[in-house]
Formats: sequence, structure tokens, C-alpha cells
Amino acid sequence: MADQPTSHPRKKLYIETVGCQMNVLDSELVVARLRDDGYELTTDIEEADAILYNTCSVRQHAEDKIYSALGRIKQLKKRKPELSIGVLGCMAQKDQNLILKRAPHVDIVVGPGQLARVPELLTIAKAEAKPQLAVSLARTAGSRDDVTSSFDNYDSDREPSVRPSPFQAYLRVMMGCDKFCTYCIVPSVRGPEQSRPPDGIVAEARALAGQGVKEITLIGQTVNSYKFREPDGRTTRLSDLLARLHDVEGVERIKFITNFPNDMTDDLLQAVRDLPKVSRYIHVPAQSGCDLVLKRMKRMYTVGFYEDMLARLRETIPGSSVSSDFIVGFCGETDESFQKTVGLVERSRFKNSFIFKYSPRTGTKADDLFADDVPEEVKKRRNHELLELQTAISLEDNMEFVGRETTVLVEGRSRSTTRREGWDGVDQLSGRTHCDRIVVFDGPERLIGRMVQVRIENASGVTLFGQVVTAERIASSV
Ligand code: SAM
Ligand code: SF4
Repeated sequence: MADQPTSHPRKKLYIETVGCQMNVLDSELVVARLRDDGYELTTDIEEADAILYNTCSVRQHAEDKIYSALGRIKQLKKRKPELSIGVLGCMAQKDQNLILKRAPHVDIVVGPGQLARVPELLTIAKAEAKPQLAVSLARTAGSRDDVTSSFDNYDSDREPSVRPSPFQAYLRVMMGCDKFCTYCIVPSVRGPEQSRPPDGIVAEARALAGQGVKEITLIGQTVNSYKFREPDGRTTRLSDLLARLHDVEGVERIKFITNFPNDMTDDLLQAVRDLPKVSRYIHVPAQSGCDLVLKRMKRMYTVGFYEDMLARLRETIPGSSVSSDFIVGFCGETDESFQKTVGLVERSRFKNSFIFKYSPRTGTKADDLFADDVPEEVKKRRNHELLELQTAISLEDNMEFVGRETTVLVEGRSRSTTRREGWDGVDQLSGRTHCDRIVVFDGPERLIGRMVQVRIENASGVTLFGQVVTAERIASSV
């Protein structure tokens, strides 16, 4: 964040974000608002005037991390009573006053539907010397309209300086979720499913492109359920939205996450096939390979349906890659049901899978109805086994790329790179292919943000390694 010429010293904001892309975007929007309120970012927690945690409540581990961070900064608040501390996001919506009980040094607790109020709440908490709680209505606390309108949308505030990369941005197309999978807290903490009007989304994409953004990732809990009905009755589906975004000048790549298997319609698959800027990458979580477990999860599809969807997807979009999420050790998952998941992973050849151990969440159907009956060590073992299998498959599929050329959007310096002594001006860069595979190669920093051709020479389970083959053309165009 750039310093502003002002007679008042700017206040320092330290913000930590856990959880999904929604939270990364929410933090960007909160920082945008606080910047207008005289804050600048710091990475030094000791010098902060305000410390904010944007939290996740999908698994217990994410919550434990925040409660221990709050414990650690208790002494800091004692030493600096003027310090403001805030807990934002999903855990704030879920735990509400419990946070103030467990950590009385917290000044504001703000749910994901109230984040636009963070600056105001910080001011009130200070003026009244009293903690402030701002959360949305519970799903059962009123009519659908009342609950929906208690989840505020303020996505037009954008703040480039806190994005992970200056030319990649998230763009929310939907909020909330109505699927109510039995294990999942998201519908409670993120509220009812709402699709944003397409005109606003396209305007935001244009504004992002104007800020230099080349890759936009559309986000929604079930992004392919996107549907917006105009007052005149016309409906915009995700496929229509992709077509409109495809016309935005400056945007070179469009992705969308996360998809729900039942909503993978042919028009969407055809749009991915026909629109060259749309990444040929589909994240469509299966969660389990056992019909009984899927039923208990209330996923509303069978393994057969999922595999048919996968076949249709691959037939329609040649060269696409698919990734999935799995929960292991869900209530009642036997060895036999787990082996069915192993079978699904073997057959499906996912690019990668995100594998989670089931974590019971208070307030979900599964927590009310089923015993968390798979021991922790069994969850761990299944997690490890599935991950090993997936990594072996990913390696085999990645090896197919060796010797081939691929187009890569260069994202930045590879995480493992440090500019060592005697540095020769060549960095190790990292980017992604059109089907979302990570590629690491040597090249000058000025390639960041560009599309380059890379010849793949080696591969691991997660990464392709190669050499730039279009250096001459790139050099002459710089
Ligand atoms: N909306 C997305 C979908 O339907 O796939 C996922 C949202 S959720 C934040 C991301 C992943 O977390 C899920 O796909 C699921 O695998 C995992 N997850 C959700 N609740 C969980 C729980 N209680 N325990 C373990 N993993 C969980
Ligand atoms: Fe959670 Fe299911 Fe909604 Fe995904 S679709 S956010 S897993 S309830």
C-alpha cells in the first residue's frame, strides 16, 4: 500500500487470512475500506494499531489456529491498550459471543455478511470502550429475504496492493450456499445462495483489467449454479457470463471455482471448450466414492452420476484437467466404503485432489444425526493412502507432458527461489498452463504476467519443469 501525503501519520493494520479464496477476497475488500479510513498495511504485528484475523470454520483446526493466535496477542494488548483486535469472517458468524468470552481482549467480531462495517465498528468499539458484535441472521431466524439481505454485498471495493499477485484477481459471482451437505458449515456462516447481477460482475472485471489484471478467477461455493434472472425474465447462466467476460479487453485467462457435480450442464462445458480465454480446468469435488457415504453427506448424486458427468466433461473439452476434494473418515465410513473412494480416484485420473479428514462442525446435520465414529488414526491413515495414490497418478499424468511445449501464464518467482550470492539475473519463475498445471522454469523477472511457451523437461507429482522456448520473441517485444 503506497504512503499517502497526509499530515496525520497513517495507522498500521496487520491482517491474517485463513481459509478459502472467498476469505482472500474478503480481506482485500476490508483492506480497501480501511485504507480509506487512514490505515496502511504492516507485516510487523508488534507495530500494528489494529490486528484483524479473517477466519475459517470449515474444519476445527482452522478455528484452533485463531484461538491460539488470540491467546498469543493477549500480552500485546496489555502492553498497548489502544490496540484494536478484530475477528472477522466465518468463525465470527459461527461463534459470535463465544469469541468475546474466550478472548475478552477482542474489540470487534464481524461476520462475513457485515464486513463493510469494519471501519465503523472499530471506531465505535474505541469510542465506547466496548466490544462490538456484527453478524448476519441465522438461516432460520427470518424469511429467506430477511436472511439474504442481512448478508451485505460490497464487492465493488477493490485493493490491488493486497492481492497475491498484481495481475491475478478473484471475482465473486455468487455468495452463500443452499446445498446443505450434512458435514458443512458454509450454508450457515455464508448465508443463502445469491447470484450477483452480471452487469456488475462485467463492470468489475473491466475495472480489474484496467488495474492490470490478466487472470480472473470467478468464485462461488457452487459457481456453476450461477443463475441471474433479470426483471424482464431473461436469465444469465455461468456460460453466458463467461461469454460476456471473454470480451473484456485485457483479461487473458478466466477460471471458475468450485463446481457442484449436479450443475455441470452441457452449455457450460461447451463454453469452456469454445472460449479460448477460459482455462480448461474444472474443480468438481466428488467427496466420496461410496454411494452410502454420499447419501449420508446429502450430496444428491451417486458415484455413477459423477463418473458419467466426468466422461461427458472429458468428451466435450479435450485436454481438460479435473481436480476434486475428498473427505475421509466421514461418519460410518467403513474400510469397504473407503476402498470405493480409492477406486474412484484410480479411475478418475484427477490432476490433483484436496483430501480432508472429517471434522465435526457444531450446527451441521451430520453433527446432530451421526456419530463421528472413525478413529483419528484411521482418518490419518486413509488421508495418507489416498494422497499417495493421487500423487502417483499426478506424476504419471505429468510425465506425459515431458518433451511437449505448453503455454504458461507466468505468475511470479518460484517459492523456492532466493536470490543467492553471485545471482546471474535469472530467476526461477513459476506459472500455470491452460489446464492449471504448475510449471517452474528459469527466466528473467520481466516475464512475470506474460504468456510464454515452455518446453517441459521433467515433472514431479505437483510440478512440471522446463525451459522457455520463446525467449527471442519475448525479448524483442519488451
Ligand atoms: N463448495 C465447495 C463444494 O461443494 O465442493 C466446497 C466448499 S468447502 C469450504 C471446501 C472443502 O472442504 C469441501 O469440498 C470439503 O471437501 C471440505 N469440507 C467441508 N466441510 C468439512 C468438514 N466438516 N470436515 C472436513 N472437510 C470438510
Ligand atoms: Fe458446503 Fe456442500 Fe455448499 Fe460446498 S455445496 S459449500 S460442501 S454445503
